[in-house]
Amino acid sequence: MAVIGIDLGTTNSLACVFRKGRAELIPNGLGAYQTRSAVSLLEDGTVLTGAAAAERLVTHPETSAASFKVWMGTERTVRLGERDFTPEELSAFVLRQLKADAERYLGEEVREAVISVPAYFNDNQRCATKLAAQLAGLTVERLINEPSAAALYHRQAAGSGDGQMMVVDFGGGTLDVSLVECFENIIEITAIAGDNRLGGNDIDQAVARRFCQENGLVLEELPPAAQASLLGQAETVKRVLSAAPAAVMALQTETGRWSFTLTRPLLRELCAPVFRRVGEVIRRALQNHGRESRVDQVVLVGGSAQMPVFGDFLEELFGRRPAVAAQPGETVALGVGLCAGIKERAQDLRDLVMTDVCPFSLGVATYSHARDKTPHMAFLIPRSSMLPASHQQTFYTLFHNQRALRFEIYQGEGYYASENLKLGELEVQVPPGPPGEQSACVTFTYDIDGVLHVSARSSGGDYRDRLILNPRLRLSGEALEQARARLEEVRLAARNEGDRLLTERALRLYEELPPTRRDEAAWLLQRFQIAEEGDRIEREKARRALAEGLDRLEEWLHRDPFGFWPEEE
Ligand code: ADP
Ligand code: MG
Repeated sequence: MAVIGIDLGTTNSLACVFRKGRAELIPNGLGAYQTRSAVSLLEDGTVLTGAAAAERLVTHPETSAASFKVWMGTERTVRLGERDFTPEELSAFVLRQLKADAERYLGEEVREAVISVPAYFNDNQRCATKLAAQLAGLTVERLINEPSAAALYHRQAAGSGDGQMMVVDFGGGTLDVSLVECFENIIEITAIAGDNRLGGNDIDQAVARRFCQENGLVLEELPPAAQASLLGQAETVKRVLSAAPAAVMALQTETGRWSFTLTRPLLRELCAPVFRRVGEVIRRALQNHGRESRVDQVVLVGGSAQMPVFGDFLEELFGRRPAVAAQPGETVALGVGLCAGIKERAQDLRDLVMTDVCPFSLGVATYSHARDKTPHMAFLIPRSSMLPASHQQTFYTLFHNQRALRFEIYQGEGYYASENLKLGELEVQVPPGPPGEQSACVTFTYDIDGVLHVSARSSGGDYRDRLILNPRLRLSGEALEQARARLEEVRLAARNEGDRLLTERALRLYEELPPTRRDEAAWLLQRFQIAEEGDRIEREKARRALAEGLDRLEEWLHRDPFGFWPEEE
C-alpha cells in the first residue's frame, strides 16, 4: 500500500508519491498539481474543495472557507451555512480530496501519509494536523517541517554541494526561514525562524486596502462578497505583475463602480512593510543559529517567491540573487514525497539521514522558593535543540513534609509559565521530610514525530510517565469514530470537477464584470448548460468556448486601460 506525501498548505495543497526512484506529483481531478485549500458547502449538503470552492468564496462567502490552516490548533470554528466546523475538519475535507485523487491516480488504496507543517507550528498545531488526517482516514506516521522537505528536494534535484543553505519559504499565509547544513548524506536543520501570519495574503490585503483608500472606501465596511472579490482580484493582479508592468482592478456593487490600476512601483511600495517583516525573520533565523552564520546559498520556495520584487528585495539584503526553485510552489511537496519514500524505506533513499530541530522550548513550571506565587519556566529542551532530544533535571521539595512533586508541562518561550502553552501535568509521591531533602528527576524526550515523552522518578522510588500528545489527539476510539462519522455525513461533491470549476468561475466573473459585459458571461454559461444535454462533441465545444470566453473576460477585466505602461526605471 502506497504512502503519500502531502504538503497541506494554507493556500494550496499537493500530494506526491515516491515511485521508480523519484518523487512524482499527483494531479488532481483538474489535472493540476495544486489543489486550492478551500472548502464550500453546496445547497445539497455535499462539500466542494479546490479551485471551484475558491471561486465560491466570492459568490457564497457564507458557506465557503479558505486559509483555515492559520486557525489550526485553536478553538476557533468556522460557520458554513448552518454548521460550525473546526479547522481540523475543514482540513480533513481537503485531505480527503487529496487522498481520493491519489487513489484514483495510483489505482490503489492510500491509508498512510507523511504531511508537512511549517517549522514554526507548535505542538497544538501539529496535533491538529494529525487529527485532520485521521478524520480523513489517513494515518500520519510522521510530520516533516516544510523547510526540511524543501531542502531535501533541492539537494536531490539541484545536486547542490555541501554547505549552509538558507531556505526561505514564502507562501500564502506563512513564512519559514531555515538554515540547513548539508554535509555528504546528512541534511541537518540548524536553525529556524518563522511567522505563521505572514505571506502573500498580506500583500493581497495591502493591495485591496490601497484600492479602497484610492476610492474612498473601507475594506471592512464592504459587503463580504465585495471584500472577497477585491481580495481575489488583488491576488490575480499581483500575479499578473510578476510578468506585466500594470494591471487593473474594478469593483461593482449596488452603490457604485470603482477601479484602480496597480503598477510595479506601487506594488513594490505596498510590499515594503511585508518584506521588512520578512527581513526580521531572516535576521532571527541567523540569530537563532548563533554560530558564525555563513550562508552559502539562499533557496526560495513557496508561491510568493515567484514575485520579481521579492527576489530584488533579497538581493539587496544578501548582495546576490537567490536561487529560485524551478517550481517554487511544488518544492515542498516533492520533498515530502521523498520523505514518504524514506518512510517506505525505498532503496534509493536509504542512505539519507535527516535531522531536525525542536522549534520551541519545552519545560516545566517551577517555584524558586516556598513563598513564590508565580511559577516560571525550567526549560528541559531549549528551542533549536537537535532532535531527537532528551534532557533531565532534578527538582527538590520546598515545604516541610511535602508529599508530592507536581510538574506542569509547558511549551513556549515566555519566562513565566502562564505565558506559555500548557501541555499536561505529572505528579510523583515523595516520602515526608524537611524541605529540599526529597526530589524527583524529570526526563523529557522529544522526537521528530512531535511526541513528547515525560517521565519523573522520585527519590522515594515513585515513577510516572506519559506521552504528551494534544488532548484532542487523544480522542481515541469512540470519540474519534464519532468525529469521523460526523464528517462522513458531509459527502464530497459529485465529480466532474472541470465543469464545476467552469461554472463557479463564470458565476464569479458575472458578479465582478460591469453590467455591459455581464451578458457575455451569462450567454457563455447558458450555452454551456444547454450543451450538457447534447452529445459529447457538442459538450466539448461548449466547454472550450466557455473556458476561452472566461479567459478573455478575465483578461479584459484586469487589462491596463491605457494599453501601455513604460517599464520602470
Ligand atoms: P501555501 O504554502 O501558503 O499554501 P503557496 O506556496 O502555494 O502557499 O503560495 C501561495 C501564494 O503564492 C499565494 O499568496 C499566491 O498569491 C502566491 N503566488 C502564486 N503564484 C504567484 C506569482 N506568479 N506571483 C506572485 N505570487 C504568486
Ligand atoms: Mg507552502
